[in-house]
Amino acid sequence: MHELSQLKVYKFGGASVKDAAAIRNLGRIVAEHGRPGPLVVVVSAMGKTTNALEALLQLAHTGQPYATELGALSSFHAAVATELGLPAAELLRELLGELESRLVAAANVAPSGLDQHYDQVVSFGELLATRIVAAFLRARWLDCRPLIRTDETWREGRLDWSATEAALQAALPLAELTQGPPVVTQGFIGGTAGGLTTTLGREGSDFTAAILAYCLGAESVTIWKDVAGLLNADPKIFPDTVRYPEISYQETIEMAYYGASVIHPKTIKPLAVRGIPLLVKSFLAPTAEGTRIHDCRHGLLVPALIRKTDQCLVSFESKELDFISEENLEVIFGVLAQVRLKIRLMQNSAISFSVCLDFLPDRLEQLLARLRGQFTIHYNTGLELYTIKNYDTASLQRLTAGRELLLEQRTRQTFQFVCRAG
Ligand code: ASP
Ligand code: MG
Repeated sequence: MHELSQLKVYKFGGASVKDAAAIRNLGRIVAEHGRPGPLVVVVSAMGKTTNALEALLQLAHTGQPYATELGALSSFHAAVATELGLPAAELLRELLGELESRLVAAANVAPSGLDQHYDQVVSFGELLATRIVAAFLRARWLDCRPLIRTDETWREGRLDWSATEAALQAALPLAELTQGPPVVTQGFIGGTAGGLTTTLGREGSDFTAAILAYCLGAESVTIWKDVAGLLNADPKIFPDTVRYPEISYQETIEMAYYGASVIHPKTIKPLAVRGIPLLVKSFLAPTAEGTRIHDCRHGLLVPALIRKTDQCLVSFESKELDFISEENLEVIFGVLAQVRLKIRLMQNSAISFSVCLDFLPDRLEQLLARLRGQFTIHYNTGLELYTIKNYDTASLQRLTAGRELLLEQRTRQTFQFVCRAG
């Protein structure tokens, strides 16, 4: 590992590069706060581009025409580049051509092969965005795919830390970072040893920033967002949010685990291991304090209110009207892991076992197919899971008032419940 250096890692998400004005603002932040000193800038796809690419892939895969949608995506990026005074055609032609051939390749593949094609297609959001941002900043554009090494778990690539660390240190020696221009690279994507592209899971660019900081021994990571810092709730859901000026790694990991949408759950651990502080700041008010996530002790925190939508509740009963035994649980857990469904909450009663899961119809179908023989299975969809971390009476009353709780669980710090959406 490099000695802990002056290196800063900045991460800009989709909202902070959504149009030419946003990229100009990014440029000001880099000039005024990031430089001088070595800087690596991690950029996500512009605005809602990742969703647009998902939709394009779906069209291509199902053999429907997609020229209009592809044209819209291309001209959107070209227009932004042009507005920034960049030679759009020259800058983007090659990438757009590659994207088109990836879409052609995705037509008519078997559903089991679709995830692999997903990564080859959806990764272009970050590739295009970084081309534009790097050119605008006159920075070095770095293709991270040969460096961020993952296995072949498509859409959720698992990182090979030692290969990644060695590759990043070789590609980005500190002396070069110190003397040269800033480096601009993609969030969210990586590559396999065989040279195929992978993605790290939706919203994974935060994790990329942490990987870079960990492997290069950065002094800090800053995530630039459209909110004032780490808040106790999503302001789109709860109007009266409070910012935490500082918070420990541990608390943040727990909040991310419960589904707080502020920071990708995998981001914190690598930073905590190497003691690298994570700053969350507003790109709209770059001089404001934001939140410092680091190794700190604090008193009781304002309760965090977290909502996860699109949940389902699945309950298993043994067919013989037997108790749910450890042997039964072993089978259920095994299949959940195989189909990659994560348990958000679980509860056991005499003859049934219930789990709250993200509602992913394909995976749920696989689960049912494998377990129906052995269990009677019921499930409800269209549910929400609420978590109050560091709850108090007021926050508890506020969230539960007027709702029918289908499942609830309480520990000393945390109260969780599942209810119908709305
Ligand atoms: N562009 C990707 C997504 O929208 C990754 C990210 O934004 O962090 O999921
Ligand atoms: Mg995004």
